[in-house]
Amino acid sequence: MSETHDLVIIGGGVGGMTAGIFAARYRLKTVLLEKAVVGGQPAVAERIENFPGFPEIDGWELSTRLEKHAVELGVGVVEPESVQRVDSGGRTLQVIGERGQYRTKALIVASGGHPRLLGVSGEKEFTRKGVHYCAQCAGPGYEGKRIAVVGGGESALLGALYLSKIGREIILIHRREAFRAEKILQERILDCESIKILLDSTVEEITGDKIVRGITVRDLQTAEISPIDLDAVFIYIGYVPNTDFIDVDKDDKGFLRVNLQMQTSHPGIFACGNVVREDAQIISAMGEGAVAAISAARYVMETDV
Ligand code: NAP
Repeated sequence: MSETHDLVIIGGGVGGMTAGIFAARYRLKTVLLEKAVVGGQPAVAERIENFPGFPEIDGWELSTRLEKHAVELGVGVVEPESVQRVDSGGRTLQVIGERGQYRTKALIVASGGHPRLLGVSGEKEFTRKGVHYCAQCAGPGYEGKRIAVVGGGESALLGALYLSKIGREIILIHRREAFRAEKILQERILDCESIKILLDSTVEEITGDKIVRGITVRDLQTAEISPIDLDAVFIYIGYVPNTDFIDVDKDDKGFLRVNLQMQTSHPGIFACGNVVREDAQIISAMGEGAVAAISAARYVMETDV
């Protein structure tokens, strides 16, 4: 670890890559660390319909374009690199990864989140054996099968719509009497004949032998518990932020507290996207990434580090 970077970005989702593009235009010497592959959640989305100006855009295409744009401007990408901790005690920041250490003047945390677990019996036991968190990744293995989708937000409804083109029957299970997802998605769900909706219902248990064979569902209005035979359960009940490795002010759910400049409680450390809010959208994560990069550029220019 000899060189000092101007900026390290942790996370190669849309927020992190947008930050990289803006940072490169300020001529910051920038490296982006991604623990898997750059792209983030949009890269696995089949299509995105709420990216302003583009009524429909493929998630993988958007991510690929962002990466190309950032790399062409000179952003260095290290993947895979899993950040273990950030040491903020010195004049510069030290980012400690599994593969290396990175000294930097400024840091943008754009590490996103991971799926929230349902926490019911059978979930861990059958993970990847019928329990999944990504329809685009695991869905094609369930052609003609009966599949449950759990959740009431955009991810759950998009997952159910995607799986309806693969499975025989999709059972969409939500714990409230109404979905919270965009109305346009709710209308599509209602129009889809192969999707059956169970509202006011919770999954109590996931059952099987070597693979998932069924679930039990509680009707919250009647307290009645019923078994349902099926082949897979896709769980979409929100995200938990990936912020364990950094010690700055967080809220009680682990989201980083930032000001309007996207600065955290520590000077020189900025954040954007799913690490600062549960309700991040692609466009808001990108906007925050741009603001974080501009703030980081000002910090590097104005601070003697
Ligand atoms: P979300 O909007 O937070 O929805 C999570 C859903 O899971 C809610 O319906 C919630 O129920 C339910 N839930 C939470 N904990 C549960 C539990 N323990 N048991 C059962 N149900 C539980 O999450 P998301 O759909 O993953 O979306 C996350 C963010 O990304 C949102 O802001 C969303 O708008 C955004 N997003 C955008 C797009 C896009 O195309 N632009 C696509 C996907 C996601 P309650 O309603 O009762 O809280």
